[in-house]
Amino acid sequence: MTQWSTCTPHLKVILIGNSGVGKSSFMTRFVDHRFTNLYRATIGVDFLTKEITIDKRSAILQIWDTAGTERFHSLGTTLYRGAHCCLLVFDVTSSISFDALEVWKKEFLVQACPSDPSAFPFIVLGNKIDLDYREVSPNKAQQWCSEIGAEYFECSAKEDIGVDATFHSAARAALQFVTSSIL
Ligand code: GDP
Repeated sequence: MTQWSTCTPHLKVILIGNSGVGKSSFMTRFVDHRFTNLYRATIGVDFLTKEITIDKRSAILQIWDTAGTERFHSLGTTLYRGAHCCLLVFDVTSSISFDALEVWKKEFLVQACPSDPSAFPFIVLGNKIDLDYREVSPNKAQQWCSEIGAEYFECSAKEDIGVDATFHSAARAALQFVTSSIL
């Protein structure tokens, strides 16, 4: 029996990616069921919690939204430590935001220092699919995900498409990571 079988696990999920890709909107849509067109830069870090059910089991999801600007990269070390899943978020209308994910991923691994980096769960998320314009095709994103062994999801925080499904997969991956780490 593990300690997780008798208490509600707290799962730490980190959202990283360039500023403006929709990390805060995605988190707010999931936790508060709302969306705003206003852009409010995240200063440093924000986090929200939500209780969810994964495979008939309760878990507390702790979602950390990080600032996408160089100015706050120094926060990474403390912030990333203890994470159980990392969502690499880009905007499908911006290839710059997609290309940046390679660096975000490397930086995350350096700062989070997971005991087994190859087993750490990453999820790649393309946001803003409600817009007509696209610079990153699903195939291109999927191909990179196959190379790095990550799951790929697309969503629209604005139209509430794919948001719940992405968080549930992140929670499931986080729970598996926690369970395998303590066995
Ligand atoms: P963050 O800096 O990554 O946290 O990005 P924000 O969540 O602050 O979003 C940046 C801008 O993109 C805001 O103006 C949002 O309203 C907009 N935005 C976020 N998600 C979507 C989406 O799914 N579709 C569209 N069309 N706009 C979005």
